[in-house]
Amino acid sequence: MTTQDTLKLFERYVIGNYARSPIVAVRGEGSWLWDAEGKRYLDLFPGWGVNGIGHCHPRVVAAIRAQAGRLLHVANVPFYIEEQGRLAQLISERSFGGQVFFCNSGAEANEAAIKLARRYFADKAAEALRSGAEAKLPPLRHKVITTFNSFHGRTLTTVSATAQPKYHAGFYPLQPGFVHVPYDDPDVVAKVIDGETAAVMVEPVQGEGGVNVPSPDYLPRLRRICDDAGILLILDEVQTGVGRTGKWFGYQNWGVTPDIMSLAKALGGGLAIGAMVARPEIAKSLVPGTHASTFGGNPIACAAGIATFEAIEQEGLLENARSIGERIKARMAAAAKKTGIIRQVRGIGCMIGVELATPGADVVKRCMAQGLLINCTHDVVLRMLPSMAATPAEIDEGMDILERVLTTT
Ligand code: PMP
Repeated sequence: MTTQDTLKLFERYVIGNYARSPIVAVRGEGSWLWDAEGKRYLDLFPGWGVNGIGHCHPRVVAAIRAQAGRLLHVANVPFYIEEQGRLAQLISERSFGGQVFFCNSGAEANEAAIKLARRYFADKAAEALRSGAEAKLPPLRHKVITTFNSFHGRTLTTVSATAQPKYHAGFYPLQPGFVHVPYDDPDVVAKVIDGETAAVMVEPVQGEGGVNVPSPDYLPRLRRICDDAGILLILDEVQTGVGRTGKWFGYQNWGVTPDIMSLAKALGGGLAIGAMVARPEIAKSLVPGTHASTFGGNPIACAAGIATFEAIEQEGLLENARSIGERIKARMAAAAKKTGIIRQVRGIGCMIGVELATPGADVVKRCMAQGLLINCTHDVVLRMLPSMAATPAEIDEGMDILERVLTTT
């Protein structure tokens, strides 16, 4: 099938909700992607962060192949699934000892986190009533505080949590119960907490909102504020999790621990999987019948997840992620001096934003024409989420192209 044939199928049969470029992707390997015309691209934004350890990592492919020959899917009731248990252990032991609920995407993981926070406080209120500690049902803690320029997903609840009006237009009424405040401002969080607040939910580093790295004391202060108020800290680690920042989970850069975190994207090494991790004391509110996902934690996605963890560990990819980040930042800082159109270079590990003085869409297009795939978010921020397994030579090649494009803008 030619590129034109595929484009025609899309024009007629596929809903046009994505602003696609006329490229049909057919093969991927590491940091490289090939299209139907045989053109090769250096992909510094593989799968919007899903291919965290690159396209078709051999360990992930082998695990999927082996699992596909044994068992593709069984439901969570009535069965236990060994791979699900093993992946949960890998996540828990590398994070904060929590228990895991598996789903299929970031939005679903955040939905689960929000539902659990509400359920936890509903259970607490019911218990207070039952034990006689309260004479009548206390106000239910159900509100979740989120931040401007956040991104938590596209379901009606997670888009309501996402404090970016452009994602709300035409979808009113939104879900009630979300309070939006500026990012990186813990004082304002302390001010808006009331007797109905259940949780604060933030990304350790905002992704879609422009690769915004918070001040060093932001997360520690949020942690203290939540503790003082007796509410939960939910961290959306969908983009920052599973090694991207050079630590297993983004929050580990700031020495804090969340009560609940959500994961997706890189977790399955390319397969669709999401996870919500909660402290066991909180997790126990999800008793049978309260929450579920038919596909969640299926054997094949979990086998891919296990292989992803093993690859990161055995190939030293956390260290590599850190050095990739430093390499890109150094190159872009040098380019800033030469080009004059770079306002700021920021990020951590394999999550880098280059803020321009002008819109970046044209830069992305011109890079693509020269065989380099990057992204632009928030109009002016070039975003790169390179594979944690990228080599210095690949990064240098990408930076050469980007610098060339930026100097001819
Ligand atoms: N949270 C964050 C921080 C994200 O970056 C994204 C996706 N870009 C989501 C949630 C939603 O994930 P999904 O598209 O898998 O639902």
